[in-house]
Amino acid sequence: MREGLARIGRVRAVINITAIACLSSVLLSSLIWSQAFGREIDWQLISTASVVPALICPFVMWFVIQMTLDLHHMENKMRYLASYDDLTELLSRRAFLTSSQKLFSLMNRSHKPFSIAYIDIDDFKKINDSYGHAAGDEVLKSFSVILEVHTRSSDLVGRIGGEEFAIALPDTGAHGAARVVELIREVSEQQMLTTSSKATLSYTISIGISTSDSNKTQTLEQLIQQADRALYEAKVAGKNRIIQFETETHFT
Ligand code: GH3
Ligand code: MG
Ligand code: MG
Repeated sequence: MREGLARIGRVRAVINITAIACLSSVLLSSLIWSQAFGREIDWQLISTASVVPALICPFVMWFVIQMTLDLHHMENKMRYLASYDDLTELLSRRAFLTSSQKLFSLMNRSHKPFSIAYIDIDDFKKINDSYGHAAGDEVLKSFSVILEVHTRSSDLVGRIGGEEFAIALPDTGAHGAARVVELIREVSEQQMLTTSSKATLSYTISIGISTSDSNKTQTLEQLIQQADRALYEAKVAGKNRIIQFETETHFT
């Protein structure tokens, strides 16, 4: 109902509701006039029955519809804020986990592979310390664009912490996932970012990947823990690299 109101807009909604109110009033009055009093329906009756709702309805409905639309917009905004990260407009941690769980179950049921990549920007604190927090925010935004551009529309991309991101790759095995994130790693490393304060900076990322094993019963939590573990190993091994949980393969 609120969706419908938002679609047709306030003016058209008021006109439609007023027309319905006038018509109902004329029909009801005519019915009472002819059935209860046995009188002839004339133009005087019709105009009297329609003039009252025609005067009152637009005035009342104008405010009622505005309140309903305001509520609708607020609800949409709250839903958006709960599901998306404000800065990067990527999925929030909670929305990412909820949607990943659905995808993971779907892939499991159809015996298809599913990969999770955990990504952390290297030495991000240094970027903040050297160029300022605003420049750090610009790095986060710019990196989120790289993620969006280099993933498929069927993948899920989320910001799961300060400078930590995750990608869920349905129907993607270990090699496919490694290819996707290696491209993201290369593009990020090669990018020279000029911030709005005219500073030019570059950054690198570390990535941990975990892929579901069709021979084992796994949960999404286990897969995430493995990706996180692989990410930790990528950091310990010197950063700016990808480590895959199963094979422990180093890509740089
Ligand atoms: P490592 O390579 O080991 O990941 O080191 P790091 O410096 O990237 O990691 P660390 O956890 O030491 O620091 C992360 C920093 O990210 C600290 C925090 O202030 C900053 N940060 C978290 N969220 C935001 C944000 O939204 N904007 C900005 N600009 N900085 C953020
Ligand atoms: Mg971190
Ligand atoms: Mg970091």
